Amino acid sequence: MLDLLNLPGVKPVDMYKESKALIIVAVTEMVKVPLCEGCNIPMHKHGTRKNKFSDTPLYMEPVRLEVQRPRFRCESCGKMAMPELSFLDDKRRATKRLVDVIRQQCLGTTFRALAEQTGVAVNTVKNIAHDLINELSQTVRYETPVIMGIDEVNLAGDYRCVISNLATNNVFDMLEYRTQEHLKPFFKDLPDGDKVEWVCTDMWRPFKRSFTQYLPNAKLVIDKFHVVKMASEALEEERKKYQAQLGKEQRIYVKKSIRCLTLKRPGNLTSPEQKALEIVRQEIPELAVAYDFKEAFFGIYDEPDKQNAQNAFEAWENSLPDQGLEPFKKLAKTVHNHYEDIFAYWDAPFPITNAYTEGLNGLIKMVNRLGRGYSYEIIRAKTLYSAEARKVGSGIRAGRGKVEYGPHIPTLLKQAESGELD
Ligand SMILES: [Zn+2]
Repeated sequence: MLDLLNLPGVKPVDMYKESKALIIVAVTEMVKVPLCEGCNIPMHKHGTRKNKFSDTPLYMEPVRLEVQRPRFRCESCGKMAMPELSFLDDKRRATKRLVDVIRQQCLGTTFRALAEQTGVAVNTVKNIAHDLINELSQTVRYETPVIMGIDEVNLAGDYRCVISNLATNNVFDMLEYRTQEHLKPFFKDLPDGDKVEWVCTDMWRPFKRSFTQYLPNAKLVIDKFHVVKMASEALEEERKKYQAQLGKEQRIYVKKSIRCLTLKRPGNLTSPEQKALEIVRQEIPELAVAYDFKEAFFGIYDEPDKQNAQNAFEAWENSLPDQGLEPFKKLAKTVHNHYEDIFAYWDAPFPITNAYTEGLNGLIKMVNRLGRGYSYEIIRAKTLYSAEARKVGSGIRAGRGKVEYGPHIPTLLKQAESGELD
């Protein structure tokens, strides 16, 4: 029979099909009679043993190897021995090359699909993946970002932390929880912590409390999108109030179109949308006032420097009426609570935002949905060690070997859209 196995020490003698796998029967080639390890005398042949091992698929079918090996016995001490097969995995009833294939593919496909394709149990795939993830977490090191983004994402049932490199648009790390107990050790152990110059986060206080003592040169800037989002949310509160006053038919109309019209920036409105918005302004003057406050708040970020931005905010706050628009007054209060860190935006050499991390949130939500049942650890590994996305922006030489920044966020997004990350 043709040696379609190409495994050292065995040759195939038969092949047949079982319901779920192709069975290849193999025998060991010429085996030398071993010496007993304890007695140092030749052993005697003592029957044969048959064992089954999973191997790489053949003709798109899972393969089970049925290996027949001679068994030897020491007549002096009774010890048994069988010829060793170097191609077997140490931990599993599988060939090393099958374990290699599973390692290569387990972070890029579902465990179930890989189990079906190879005929091994889902739990075996899971165990191989866990071993791989442990190895990767000890060996893969990404360059500490000079401009670091910290964001929260709801993943596998909890709020997690995504740390990104905002200069290169790479994911740097993911933390299981966003509490100080998880954040502090991360920053404490971060190599090159003095390299971090800027940290961009939302207003979640523990972020700042966790890193300040460990990143001596880092300045905090509250992410622009999280700040202006509050103005949109304030407008939404107002809109719902006026919507409640409308009749049923009008309300449906308001919900479907006014929400979009008022949340969009004027520059993004098409000309029919501009006309529609004009009608809304005339019909609901109270909403028009709220809309103008929302837009004026967004306008603060169009200011060219810090002084002008702070002046614009002051003017905006002073123009709020004594009565009503409570959501916007709440927003003004929040800005005061984070005043320095919000206006630090204009201290940075160029605008620093978490825009890509926000995109990443969408991606992780998609991974969440597709990979239902995956643990946080697996989703983290699928994101952080994605082979394709790691290639982008890596391999830059900087004197002491290869520098890697982590998986490239736009590449991850593309992969997620095409379903490659399932
Ligand atoms: Zn012996």
